[in-house]
Amino acid sequence: MAIDRFGRKIHYLRISLTDHCNLRCVYCMPEDMTFRPKSEMMQDDEIFTLTRLFADLGFDKIRLTGGEPTVRARITEIVRGLASTEGIRSVSMTTNGVLLSKLAAPLAEAGLERVNVSLDTLDPEKFHRLTRWGKVQDVWNGILAAEQAGLTPIKLNAVVVKGYNEEDVVELARLTLDHPWQIRFIEMMPFAGVTDLQTGQVVTMSQIQARIEDAFGKLEIGNGGQLDGEARVYHLCGAQGDLGFISPVSAPFCASCNRTRLTADGRLRLCLLREKELDLLTPLRAGASIEELRDLILQGIWEKPWGHGLAEGVIPLNRGMSEIGG
Ligand code: SAM
Repeated sequence: MAIDRFGRKIHYLRISLTDHCNLRCVYCMPEDMTFRPKSEMMQDDEIFTLTRLFADLGFDKIRLTGGEPTVRARITEIVRGLASTEGIRSVSMTTNGVLLSKLAAPLAEAGLERVNVSLDTLDPEKFHRLTRWGKVQDVWNGILAAEQAGLTPIKLNAVVVKGYNEEDVVELARLTLDHPWQIRFIEMMPFAGVTDLQTGQVVTMSQIQARIEDAFGKLEIGNGGQLDGEARVYHLCGAQGDLGFISPVSAPFCASCNRTRLTADGRLRLCLLREKELDLLTPLRAGASIEELRDLILQGIWEKPWGHGLAEGVIPLNRGMSEIGG
């Protein structure tokens, strides 16, 4: 079992399958982003080897992310391999949904359990402005295909950015009246690449909640007041779905962190918002034994930072969000 020095049991692995993406969201990366060459990325067999190691250490939950995980070659076969790894109970994915109308059914068949789809606004023009390249209709079709394929419960992630989509939280929240989805509002976090926007245009959870309550009345607390992963859950009166509020900036949830991340180039990222990483791919390629790799992982997790340092002005600058995956 992997435990850090604060006694947190770490059993949830987020794997970034690629740093490439088919969108260029303004809060995530610059439009002229350059990507890593394929040779620096984990190959399929390297992902499977490392995942087996994590599963042996008690990891039972995997989330695939990117960049955009659906642009990775052989994504269906990767999901199949991970879902059939002994000890792994659940494989889910965070995606922008653009390719889901084609991929949802084969991914579900391969063993994907569910998806979180990023959707920051329902307005086609604002969507294009935020993502630079995207069409909201593609994402909407992808969400419906995911629901049809049983990749449920569907969760939609909206990053809220001042001057772009802060009014749109009302229409997004309204979706829960007719759909059994969780709409999750995420405070924007600062990373390398676009820090001016990320620090200057944050909308806090209390501002988002106030805007939604102005439109619908007081929100009812959901999930028995417990966090659902990192989200505080509420719902609109009479709604089929619920609302999740994720507030890493204004109310961090580091105490309950149970996760670690594997970047596409095979680094163990110990905290989303800290630069500390441990290279697993180089020793794997150099022929390290399973025992040596396992000891490296355990040592890294033991040294997992308590939490981020945003309140003290510490911003991670060695990678952007698109290279870590959320
Ligand atoms: N491409 C996939 C997607 O769009 O969901 C997966 C990778 S993306 C980096 C994962 C999540 O991180 C998305 O929900 C995205 O909106 C969110 N994200 C990106 N940049 C962010 C930032 N600066 N602050 C908070 N969330 C961010």
